[in-house]
Amino acid sequence: MYKGILNKMRAVETDSSINYSLDLGGEIVSPNDWIGKNITIDFLDEIYCCKCHKKVKQVYMSGYCYSCYKNSPETDENIFKPELDMAHLGISRDMNWAKEVSLKKHFVYLANTGEVKVGVTREANIPSRWINQGADSAIIIAEAPNRHIAGCIEVYLKKFFSDKTKWKKMLSSSNEDINLEEQRNIAFSKIHPVLKNFLTDEFKTKYLNFPVSIYPEHILQTQKLKKNKSIKGKLIGIKGQYFIFESGDVMNISSHAGFLVNISF
Ligand SMILES: [Zn+2]
Repeated sequence: MYKGILNKMRAVETDSSINYSLDLGGEIVSPNDWIGKNITIDFLDEIYCCKCHKKVKQVYMSGYCYSCYKNSPETDENIFKPELDMAHLGISRDMNWAKEVSLKKHFVYLANTGEVKVGVTREANIPSRWINQGADSAIIIAEAPNRHIAGCIEVYLKKFFSDKTKWKKMLSSSNEDINLEEQRNIAFSKIHPVLKNFLTDEFKTKYLNFPVSIYPEHILQTQKLKKNKSIKGKLIGIKGQYFIFESGDVMNISSHAGFLVNISF
């Protein structure tokens, strides 16, 4: 049994699969080892901010207390809307953070998460960004010197591609192979001339192999600890930030960041 505070899972790729790790507030465990087992996750009615570690009633945006949510660069609006990042003009909640994040090289990519979606990520977050989204494959299609420009390219391409992940579709199977190089050519043919210089065809499609023993016939619902207090079932796989149970229910681990739990088998 483990007792600890849930956190966003981290993942590393091996030759054969993706290995997840979960930091329970000091103790690091390997959820891949739980696949095939019956597990119970009990909420102990305490929630902690992932940044200042204060005990709180509620967290915002995956683990932040209200004050950290309102003031941290990690929870700024530009996290969801990169085009609003203004660090290149010297505007940020924290310029030191922005120098390390916003002003670093960013990529625009296409990913197969059940359908083709367009997204933006920092160079340092490849492939973890794609793993977190549960993408079966992804390809880089543009390189930009900062987050703002990558965001502008994404905004333009949103006219032709989705920018959202449909989680039920993403979790219901290993998605059909989409030829992302063909999709990249479509993006290239649609792009606005002003943004053309940022495009790149240097990258190949990257495939990701998630540890899922078998996909459930239907994804039923996403279980939440605040409502259910206890989530149990036979774990049959992990994809994105989700535990997939044999029943078809799923649990998003990162959306429970800060929750104090007991995990038993
Ligand atoms: Zn806080």
